[in-house]
Amino acid sequence: MKVQEELLLQPPRGMRDILPTEQIYWQQARRVSEKAAQDFGYRRIDIPLLEFNNLFERSIGEGTDIIDKEMFSFSTKGGERVALRPEFTAGIARAYIQHGLQVAPKPVKLYYTGPCYRYDRPQEGRFREFFQFGCEAFGESDPILDAQMIQMGWRIIYQLGLRNVRVRINSIGCPACRKSYRNLLVSYFESKKQKLCIDCKRRLETNPLRILDCKEDKCVQVKMNAPQSIDHLCEDCRIHFKELLEYLEELEIPFEIDAALVRGLDYYTKTVFEFFAGETGEDVKKSALGGGGRYDGLVKMLGGENTPAVGFSLGLDRLVALMKKTGAKVYKEPKAKVFLAQLGTFAKRKSLRMFESLERAGIMVSESFGRGSLKSQLKVADRLGVEITLILGQKEALDGTVILKDMSSGNQEIIDSAKLVDEVKKRLKK
Ligand SMILES: [Zn+2]
Ligand SMILES: [Zn+2]
Repeated sequence: MKVQEELLLQPPRGMRDILPTEQIYWQQARRVSEKAAQDFGYRRIDIPLLEFNNLFERSIGEGTDIIDKEMFSFSTKGGERVALRPEFTAGIARAYIQHGLQVAPKPVKLYYTGPCYRYDRPQEGRFREFFQFGCEAFGESDPILDAQMIQMGWRIIYQLGLRNVRVRINSIGCPACRKSYRNLLVSYFESKKQKLCIDCKRRLETNPLRILDCKEDKCVQVKMNAPQSIDHLCEDCRIHFKELLEYLEELEIPFEIDAALVRGLDYYTKTVFEFFAGETGEDVKKSALGGGGRYDGLVKMLGGENTPAVGFSLGLDRLVALMKKTGAKVYKEPKAKVFLAQLGTFAKRKSLRMFESLERAGIMVSESFGRGSLKSQLKVADRLGVEITLILGQKEALDGTVILKDMSSGNQEIIDSAKLVDEVKKRLKK
């Protein structure tokens, strides 16, 4: 006989349940962000949780923590190498190419929301399964789109009731100017190699820009005097950045240039930015609430046409955590104003139909069909604080009537069940 492994009544490390009591925050975060996306003309896209492993390797790039350490990748029974998405942008760019979305008027504006997975070291506020909301716009190189992305992210965070929303911004240039900047950076860090952490010594070979991202104290020290990308931009990138800053000033969005901000994913070009909120202090050491940037080379890199693009994402887990901490506004779940009670087998059967006709008319109804006695049902109605209780007994069910009880006055009347919807609506209006 096979020995059964002990059943652990918990999800794998870094994952958790989001219980009904918490959903008021999540619903608010999703509602506000989706509303903003729709207001700005973005349309929803859903993509699979799984993609072929090499989609992420090619787009996010080797030498990044995501690819080197954090991928939930595995082989399927058919022998395909797949991975749970560590972020959305690569999959959305894949979908954009695959479905020929470039034929639509530009820019093609898409938004998404859902879980992502990274085999990260779980810590305060960081999970291996985490939730993102984001927007991507394909086919437009004008910096006004970059500004709009920042505007949307800023607005969502603000509308969630978080205050002191800040944007940190940088330009990391294009392949043309980044090459010479990269060389400068490599020679600078080579000269300070002994002072770097082990990871950064390795990054010096694989992805030197990532060193600017390192949060280790000694690396933070070294990078303070490192050459800055914005001092080495080509003419095109310089103008793009300058115009973006002018748009942000026009929008009165407070921003700060952060030369160390690189968002070490391979596909970023020119603009990169991150959002923070709440107490000020050293943002550099804090986790951003989200961020994004331009990725003009990604679609081509994956085999599509040359397509400039820009996007951003927000970490819903962190937004929710901050909303809770600051006592931000939550989503108010709609409450039923009508309770439907029933007594007797025939009435019970009829009450299902009655419930449905009220629901269809847009009237939210509560019930406690499982309870036998009328008394215990009315107790529930009382506790819910409804305005109207409908009582369907055996006699009423046979007569085609129903008793309508006004809960504040206690008055009862008998109503023709064919006119029930209108009668209830009339009374709820009062
Ligand atoms: Zn450039
Ligand atoms: Zn380091």
